Amino acid sequence: MNDQKNPNIHCTVDQCAHNLCTENYCTLDQVHIDTHEANPTVKECVDCASFVKRQECQ
Ligand code: SF4
Repeated sequence: MNDQKNPNIHCTVDQCAHNLCTENYCTLDQVHIDTHEANPTVKECVDCASFVKRQECQ
C-alpha cells in the first residue's frame, strides 16, 4: 500500500485501506466517485467507489 498522502484528496474515512488515517488524506493518485441513487440530490447520495475496507488503522 502507498503511504504517501495525496494532498488533493482530503478524506476522513479511516475505515478505508487507502486512507492515511494519521493525516485524513487519501493515498491514491485518483479516486472514482459514484452514486447509489438514480437521481442524487444531497451529498449523502454520493459515494467513493474506490473504498476498500481496511483491517486496522496503521
Ligand atoms: S479511496 Fe475513497 S474512501 Fe478511501 S481514502 Fe481514498 S477517498 Fe477516502
